[in-house]
Amino acid sequence: MNELVYYQDQYLKELEAGILKIEEKRLLLDKTIFIPASNTEPGDVGKINGVKIVGSKKEEDGVWQILERQILLNTGDTVKLELDWNKRLLAMRLHSALHLLAGPFDKNFNQRAVAGAIRGKNAHLVFKEKVADEIITQAIEQANQDIENGLAIKSYWDEKRAGFRWTQVGNYPAIPDGGLHVRNTNEIGKITLVSKDLDQGHQKIEITTTS
Ligand SMILES: [Zn+2]
Repeated sequence: MNELVYYQDQYLKELEAGILKIEEKRLLLDKTIFIPASNTEPGDVGKINGVKIVGSKKEEDGVWQILERQILLNTGDTVKLELDWNKRLLAMRLHSALHLLAGPFDKNFNQRAVAGAIRGKNAHLVFKEKVADEIITQAIEQANQDIENGLAIKSYWDEKRAGFRWTQVGNYPAIPDGGLHVRNTNEIGKITLVSKDLDQGHQKIEITTTS
């Protein structure tokens, strides 16, 4: 595997890296700041030597970057990575908002989210069954209180399962997670409800954050 620098410092916006492998528009670097898209995360974009990357893909030998077009480079060359920071920061704030909000639903109301995802400027949680309006309102109020209070957000590797990560917000239960977060809830901004729908009996709660 290459070095996944985004797990060591999620605030790093630029990096120099060496090329391990090249396949047309695809590059495998010795280290990277670009996280691939997942079910939850939109994935990073940015530039390598000024050329846009359209995405990244996790494979057996590491995380590959896919360029918009082929560039003339050789194995061993050093390249400069520049992250689209605004997009990353929004994704981290929304991701942290989802993990935080899942906390009061679970701890205060015994309602555990079964899925969550970021979609553009919004993000949503999904619950197994309908959740009462009153609970939704109170959970969001608690989350916004937690944002004001400033709870630490910690992501860490599982000690027994290789490659498996957890994220914990304050004292809420830790949640399995491969994504990236801000370090403190006070970086999230205020959580506001965008919509609440029932999708085939499952409660879906869409939110956004405003700084
Ligand atoms: Zn997550």
